[in-house]
Amino acid sequence: MILEIEKYGSEKLRRPARKVAVTPELVALAESMLETMYKAKGVGLAAEQVGRDEALCVIDVPLSCEDDEETKAFNARTTQPLVLFNPEIVTASGEQTGREGCLSLPNVGGDVTRPSEVTVQYLDAKGVPQMATVRGFLARAVCHETDHLKGILYVDHMDEKSREKVIKKLQKKK
Ligand SMILES: [Zn+2]
Repeated sequence: MILEIEKYGSEKLRRPARKVAVTPELVALAESMLETMYKAKGVGLAAEQVGRDEALCVIDVPLSCEDDEETKAFNARTTQPLVLFNPEIVTASGEQTGREGCLSLPNVGGDVTRPSEVTVQYLDAKGVPQMATVRGFLARAVCHETDHLKGILYVDHMDEKSREKVIKKLQKKK
């Protein structure tokens, strides 16, 4: 089922998510979120973005999005799409600055600095605890989506001037 995506300005994007137990209903929600994400040509989507408050996000970053062969090979060890219930970044290292976008702020983007490698702990769609260590653009996506679950948007990481520029552009495109 295609879900409606909450846009910048919606209060629903600012609520912290609540931890959940993995239920068939939430697994079905995750499937709809994936469907919605693929249709919108996104690489990640958090439950907040479809008006929900569960700690759940989905991610599918094609390996072709990664800058170098080493990162591609490293991330290939992690099976995607990722369905992450109650995700928490447990370790982060390095730094990377690159362009980021968000389905809740359509058609705009901006540079954000993120860790270059993160380890995320989560429950999978079967409710089994898992850990994944990822790098590059996939690490960026994990940071971006776990931020959504805290009510944080990527523009919050930008300096005021850059953020204003993005928001102005966003309002122009409306
Ligand atoms: Zn987003």
